[in-house]
Amino acid sequence: MTTKELMELDQKYIIGTYGRNPISIVRGKGATLYDEEDNEYIDFTSGIGVSSIGYGNEKWAEAIYEQAKKLGHISNLYYTEPCAKLAEQLCTRTGMSGVFFGNSGAEANEGIIKLARKYSYDKYGEGRATVLTLKDSFHGRTITTLNATGQDVFHQYFFPFTEGFRYVEANNFTDLVLKADDTVCAVLMELIQGEGGVNPLDEEYVKNVAEYCKKNDWLLLIDEVQTGVGRTGTLFAYQGYGIEPDAVSFAKGIAGGLPMGGFLVSEKCRETLGPGTHGSTFGGNPVSASAALEVLNELDDQLLLEVREKGNYIAAAVHNMRSGNISAIKGKGLMIGLQLIGADAAQTSAALASRGLLTLTAHGNVLRLLPPLTITIEEIDKGLAILQGLLGD
Ligand SMILES: *Cc1c(COP(=O)(O)O)cnc(C)c1O
Repeated sequence: MTTKELMELDQKYIIGTYGRNPISIVRGKGATLYDEEDNEYIDFTSGIGVSSIGYGNEKWAEAIYEQAKKLGHISNLYYTEPCAKLAEQLCTRTGMSGVFFGNSGAEANEGIIKLARKYSYDKYGEGRATVLTLKDSFHGRTITTLNATGQDVFHQYFFPFTEGFRYVEANNFTDLVLKADDTVCAVLMELIQGEGGVNPLDEEYVKNVAEYCKKNDWLLLIDEVQTGVGRTGTLFAYQGYGIEPDAVSFAKGIAGGLPMGGFLVSEKCRETLGPGTHGSTFGGNPVSASAALEVLNELDDQLLLEVREKGNYIAAAVHNMRSGNISAIKGKGLMIGLQLIGADAAQTSAALASRGLLTLTAHGNVLRLLPPLTITIEEIDKGLAILQGLLGD
């Protein structure tokens, strides 16, 4: 099927919620993708931060195949080894106490919001259910997580939303203290806002918030759906901030391309969600868990170091382009935002795609780069040459 034929078929039967690029991806190897006509694309997207260990990864595919042959699914009413081993890995490598597995980021965030509300209800009773979230955040597309998201554009059409969210300004501790009252039970935030523009939070601000949470017995909920699983050069971004969250949500990159999400909890709320209070039919399924075990296996200290080095390499190279259209380079590790001026991010991303480089955008006219963590320097250089060709001097 040609790309044109595929586009027609897709548009005839799939509802139009996505603005797709006019490209059909057929296969990939490493961080290089190929379309129907065998054109090559350097991938600075990983899907959207998902394909963390690259495309066509043999060990990952093998892990999925071997598990699928043995057991593709059984309900959470039985024990399965891949999910228990994955939970062990996540806890021992973070110091968190326990895990819940679901299937997506929004669902993971719903889970930690439920955790915070029940923790508070168990201890203090009703009337303490407000969750403070940050302006320009993004937490998902369900009726609850849309309202947790601190951007007005997401608060349309679908009324009534789940109530109980209040928005505070990022990196403004005074604003948070001003908006706090005795109805609050938690703060939910990304440490680097992804969709919101690749905006890193200040370390001092994060520490102040963490301390204030502790003082008031609010849960500190960190949304690591985008920043987690090695993206910023530590297994989770919070490990680079010197804080101890009560819950950490993850999804996107965890299983390297299969659907999986979930959250980690601290000792303090280890018992909050007891039998019957939360669940997911597919959560922790053995095939996704086997894929995730291979992702964590590859994400050793050496690869995490390389993520930081490759991030610095890209930032330095972009800086050296001295492009009049790039006014700032933001982010950490392989989560990079290029602030554009005098060029539209969406148009720039489309133009780059037609030249063979896939990129993402983010709120505030930002070009967002989330390459596979295993991308090679050769692939990075090819991608940067395309970027230079369009935006360089
Ligand atoms: C992508 C994302 C989500 C939503 O994840 P889904 O898997 O699409 O539900 C939530 N929070 C953050 C920070 C994200 O980047």
